[in-house]
Order: sequence, then C-alpha cells, then structure tokens
Amino acid sequence: MTDPENDATPELTVIVPVFNESENLRPLVERLVPALACVGSFEVIFVDDGSNDDTMAALRALNAADPRLRGLSFSRNFGKEVAIAAGVDAARGRGAVIMDADLQHPPEAIAAFVARWREGYQNIYGVRRSRDTDTAARRWLTDRFYHLFGAFGEIELPKGAGDFRLLDRKALDALKGLRERARFSKGLYAWIGFKSIGVPFEVAERHSGVSKFSYRKLTRFAFDGIVSFTTVPLRAWTYVGAVIAALALLNAVYYVLETLIWGVSVPGFASLIVSIMFFAGVQLISLGVLGEYIGRVFAEVKGRPLYVVAEKIGDPEHRASLSPGEKA
Ligand code: UDP
Ligand code: MG
Repeated sequence: MTDPENDATPELTVIVPVFNESENLRPLVERLVPALACVGSFEVIFVDDGSNDDTMAALRALNAADPRLRGLSFSRNFGKEVAIAAGVDAARGRGAVIMDADLQHPPEAIAAFVARWREGYQNIYGVRRSRDTDTAARRWLTDRFYHLFGAFGEIELPKGAGDFRLLDRKALDALKGLRERARFSKGLYAWIGFKSIGVPFEVAERHSGVSKFSYRKLTRFAFDGIVSFTTVPLRAWTYVGAVIAALALLNAVYYVLETLIWGVSVPGFASLIVSIMFFAGVQLISLGVLGEYIGRVFAEVKGRPLYVVAEKIGDPEHRASLSPGEKA
C-alpha cells in the first residue's frame, strides 16, 4: 500500500478529535505545524465528531492550503473516544500523537515525546503538571474515580496521564485490535502495555469555547471506565448476599430460641418495613449493576461498526482506505 510519490508513510501522524472547534483549528495549526519540525514528515488527521458549526469548512480550507492536513467526518457525534479510534484507524505514520483541538495540549511538547520515542519508548504519555484549569468539583470527582479504579480496576492507570500521548506503530496496531464499543481510552492505552514513560507538560487554558464534557457525560464515561475494566461490582453482590443470608439465618435462630424461652411475642412493625425497604433497595442496586454489564454485552453482540464516516478530506489513499464492502 506504500506509495512513495504520496509519501504514504509519514514519520508521524497527529490525531485530533474535533467537536465544534472551528475557532480553534487555525490557531492550533499555526502552532502545530512549526512544532512538527522535529520529525522528518508528518500528517495531521482531524476527526470531526459530528460538529454542527463550520468545522468542516475550516478543515477543507486547511487541506487546500496544506495537503498534509487531512480530515474525516462522522455522520453524527460518536464521542471523543470513538473519534480517537477512527484517527488511529486512518493513521499511516510510523507513530502517532493524539491531542485535543482546544490547545490545552501544547504542540511544543511533542518534541519531547519524539525524543523519548527515538530512545525506544513506544507508549509515551503526557503527564499534567497541574490541574488548575479544571474546576475544584471536577478535580475532586476525578480523584474519587482514580481511587475507585485503583481499588477495583484490573490494570493500573498512571496518575495524571490523559489522551495526549505518542504511540509507536506497534502500539497503534495493538490499539486497532481493541474494537470494544464502550471505550475508555486511558484504560486501553494502559492495557496494551509496551515500553511506556511519562513526560510532564503544562496544561493550558482552553483557547476558545467551553469544555464539551458535561458532568453527565463524565459520569457516563467513569461508569464505562469501571465496567469495562473490572467485574468486581458484579461479583461483590455474591458476598453481600452471603452476608445478608447469614445474618437472616442468625436472626431466625434467635427468634426460635426467643419463642421457646419466652413464648410468642408481637414484634414491632417499623423494623419490618425498614428491612423490606432496605433489601428491596439492595436487590434493585444489584439488578442495576447486572444491567450495566448486560447493556454492554448487548452493545458488543450487535456488532455494529464503531463509527460511520460521512466524508473524507484530502485522502490520497481514498480507494485503499475504503472498507471491503465499499470497494466492491
Ligand atoms: N471532543 C470530541 N467529541 C466529543 C467531545 C469532545 O471529539 O463528543 C473533542 C474536543 O473537540 C476536544 C477534545 O475532544 O478536541 C477534548 O474535549 P474538551 O476540551 O471539551 O474536554 P476537556 O478538556 O474539558 O476534558
Ligand atoms: Mg479541553
């Protein structure tokens, strides 16, 4: 598939998920292209995650001015994690950097990633020096999440690491093999392994616009993270059930003895109501946990593609990158 005339294998691909960031694209490119002087050749793939502003027009203009800047648009919003997956699928580089479009990830840090890459590291992740740009509430919730994940998760997440990173071709190919729908990228990067190292960087304020992640979206994402990397919540109910059953048995023994010794008494009704409500709650929670997992099993079983591409901008290998069905 290599086409020397098109320079089909650039040294580095930069993958940028974009959702309503038209204001940020030009300032990003103005800093990114000079910062990429540290590599021999590069391509930038903007994955438009179903934006409803003029992001696509901005991408077309960028591609017309510089064919190394390519674009890909989804038919609707599939979420940042899926946009990253599409970028990884489309990347042709011998390595790829993943970064946000809002200039919170400074392009100048890429040189430090590349230096580590040349030393032989394959999974180089940016570590945020401070988190001052997040609200206190978000920082607190993030800490709680990491705590929970650390206690339950079957893999270890490096602290302060996010999506800003450089992955070698080997790591990219491994990542391509993980087609799960509930994608928790931070977990996937850790899961694939490879020689990893953190490189500190300073997070900047968002260049323009507001964060695209509401607390609702973040909560959903946190659930995905826990549920796709541990089955402890599923198994925990076995133990909870066993403890409750043992207590019930002890209680029964107590009542039998009580009746034998003091005769029949009329127990209060408040305790009855409280215990019925409590155990109904426990059962509903455990059903909910089952639902979380079954919902994800269902999503996987349907076997739908991860995303639907609406348009490609500046793809020199257009035919080669079409899916087999499209080519026929
Ligand atoms: N993003 C995306 N799809 C979404 C939400 C966000 O592709 O549904 C992109 C967004 O355009 C940005 C990156 O993901 O490039 C990070 O988003 P944002 O800055 O809103 O998140 P935060 O920095 O607050 O975590
Ligand atoms: Mg941001």
